[in-house]
Amino acid sequence: MKLIIIGPPGSGKGTQAKLLSKKLNLPHISTGDMLREVKGELRKKIDYYIAGGDLFPDELMFEILKERLEKEDCKKGFILDGFPRTIPQVDMLKSFTEIDYAIEVSVSDKEIIKRLSGRRTCGRCNSLFNIYTNPKPKQENICDNCGEELHERDDQAPEAIKNRVKVYAKQTKPILERYNTIKVNGEQDIGQVFQDILEEFLV
Ligand code: AMP
Repeated sequence: MKLIIIGPPGSGKGTQAKLLSKKLNLPHISTGDMLREVKGELRKKIDYYIAGGDLFPDELMFEILKERLEKEDCKKGFILDGFPRTIPQVDMLKSFTEIDYAIEVSVSDKEIIKRLSGRRTCGRCNSLFNIYTNPKPKQENICDNCGEELHERDDQAPEAIKNRVKVYAKQTKPILERYNTIKVNGEQDIGQVFQDILEEFLV
């Protein structure tokens, strides 16, 4: 089965993609994670886009992704998290393979802004926390796992957050019309969102 999971930044799509990947035994492919791992020449360019909350150029993004999708483990299917995010990306993916379903994790703008502005990251071990929702750090601004001070990532600054929400509404949401879409309420707790996704697959 080939699935894509789409939702605004902070919707928890990555968490749901990981759960689904385990349940269905399919590789979880996150284009955001892939971009964050790139080293070398492209690094500066990628940081520029991510920090501003803008999308990395379609062609370059697909080039990186295609290499991953061509690997053996993707032959049986995959869960694509964060791609496609624009109509041209939909067309590029379509020319490569057909997608069975899109899962939309729906969350209101108000809730998104709250979730994203509360995010804190540990610079040493990369653990993620949230000062408003979960997981809250036990000690204010200190990583539970390694004791390092927590900080905001560049793309968690207020201007970048507003831009990411705008980019999602304008460029990404319209792509859902191109797929068989299963919509779930992403404002529930993680377990309930996952249950709702599974139920949609069982009916
Ligand atoms: P994510 O972790 O999915 O929220 O992605 C983080 C950032 O990576 C996004 O804000 C974009 O700057 C970039 N990115 C991830 N996926 C894509 C994509 N499909 N197209 C363009 N840029 C992307």
